[in-house]
Amino acid sequence: MAACADVLEGLAAIGSLGRVAVEIRVGSVEEKQAHGRIGRGCAMRVKGRWAHGARRGSKGSACPPGGQKYRHQTSVTFHCEISRLRQPDIQAIFAPQGCCEDSMADPKPVLVVGAGPVGLVAAAELIRHGVPVTVLEEGTELSGEMRGSTFHAPTLDMLAEYGAAERMVEQGFVAPLMQYRRRDHGVIATFDFGVLADVTRHPFRLQCEQFKLTRILHDILKDKPGFSIRFGAKVAAVADEGSHVVATLADGTRIEGSHVIGCDGAHSAVRKSAGLSFEGFTWPERFLVLSTPFDFRSIIPDLADVSYYADPEEWFFLLRVPGGEPGGLWRAMFPTSAELSDEEILSPEFARARFARIKAGRDDYPTRHRTLYRVHQRVAETFRKGRILLAGDAAHINNPLGGMGLNGGVHDAVNLGAKLARVWHGDAEDVLDLYDRQRRGVTVEHVQRQTITNKQNLEAKEPEAQAAFRDRMAEAASDPAKAHAYLLQVSMINSLRRAAEID
Ligand SMILES: Cc1cc2nc3c(=O)[nH]c(=O)nc-3n(C[C@H](O)[C@H](O)[C@H](O)COP(=O)(O)OP(=O)(O)OC[C@H]3O[C@@H](n4cnc5c(N)ncnc54)[C@H](O)[C@@H]3O)c2cc1C
Repeated sequence: MAACADVLEGLAAIGSLGRVAVEIRVGSVEEKQAHGRIGRGCAMRVKGRWAHGARRGSKGSACPPGGQKYRHQTSVTFHCEISRLRQPDIQAIFAPQGCCEDSMADPKPVLVVGAGPVGLVAAAELIRHGVPVTVLEEGTELSGEMRGSTFHAPTLDMLAEYGAAERMVEQGFVAPLMQYRRRDHGVIATFDFGVLADVTRHPFRLQCEQFKLTRILHDILKDKPGFSIRFGAKVAAVADEGSHVVATLADGTRIEGSHVIGCDGAHSAVRKSAGLSFEGFTWPERFLVLSTPFDFRSIIPDLADVSYYADPEEWFFLLRVPGGEPGGLWRAMFPTSAELSDEEILSPEFARARFARIKAGRDDYPTRHRTLYRVHQRVAETFRKGRILLAGDAAHINNPLGGMGLNGGVHDAVNLGAKLARVWHGDAEDVLDLYDRQRRGVTVEHVQRQTITNKQNLEAKEPEAQAAFRDRMAEAASDPAKAHAYLLQVSMINSLRRAAEID
């Protein structure tokens, strides 16, 4: 192992281009694995040749031919030319992985079910660590649904590692402020995300439709070695076969992988196939999302792009997103009564009546979208069952107040992708339990709790509870230290810090 660490350090010093000769001792079991690692790097990324008479490593010959015989020698020198490699690739080559004879004979990709934002982030993280990935997506193309549109600071920091954050920022709206307001439009509190500049490279909320992220990631990944995606591939079942997994598509096709990550959304076939329960509850009211190009800033002074209205009867929120319109689209979200039918709620009359409640005397806003959806608070009983893993909505769902569902899913994918890469390269599988403890732990402790609290704060019926919320927010917004602490919480930085503490 020491030899490998030295190799890594040496390569880090060389940088992205260079020539290196490395001596790896192969006298112990541990060091034989080091031998395998080099073999893999040779096959996958590096033009190289093995000393002691081995032939030049080439694509498709993972181990040096005759690799077996080196097991009994004391050392082997590996000469490789590092070309077009970035630091993450170099680490991938020398990261731990299994014995070359077994794992390299038939290296299986990780199967990612679902090309939503979480599936593609998981794929990006795995590819970054040199792990081949096959994404299986039911749709014939990437989804164009608007859905989630809020990206928090640490999520953008993560996406920046794949080169995706900058492109998201170009295509989205940077929202530096978040407001809480009363039903009469009086401002309760305005928070400035700029105070987080000491802990993030993106001290703001980004309002950008999630389908833009999937397109950007797909564009980044599509030509990467090891990445493949199959559209029209609906996974019906997955099975853990002990040494690998098998995903069976609806048409009966069987696809093998080393592990499978279910990123297939709230109705996850992977979760159901693994027999995992999805515990929690469903809110009685459904949420109606209406969008309009009408600019509410023209009638509501100083309206922030992210504004939550607290009211015991008629809470709602307003968010501005690009929406493909010159000035953007405003999305308004309202709870609706359980007694009303879907048809009533989705009628143009209902939309007008809801819009009329935003500002008295106006109901004539052009409507671009009307979406009604049921809201749940549910968490899978575990995020890991053997080689079957869950992330994103497949693992947890929550109400949209605070924009934590999609962000939490991205955090899962990054955490899991890095750990699974270690396992794929040869580390013990136990680290996947840590993924479950960390991500399921903070999903329950932070995301579920915070989103339920957010809803309760906005809809509080008791005057004392309403006043307490208003006072708390006004005080926090007026004190930089308290504002900082509050924004660490709502930006999900605290949940990530907490996850990192769990061992
Ligand atoms: C109206 C609405 C508004 C929202 N607003 C926000 C917000 O502002 N902020 C926020 O953070 N979150 C928001 N969310 C939640 C957010 O959209 C989800 O958390 C997010 O989409 C989860 O991403 P995902 O990749 O886990 O799942 P999905 O986006 O659901 O992607 C799952 C993918 O898997 C594919 N798939 C499904 N089944 C199979 C199968 N059997 N085989 C193969 N492929 C399959 C699907 O086609 C899809 O491409 C909102 C959700 C809704 C509905």
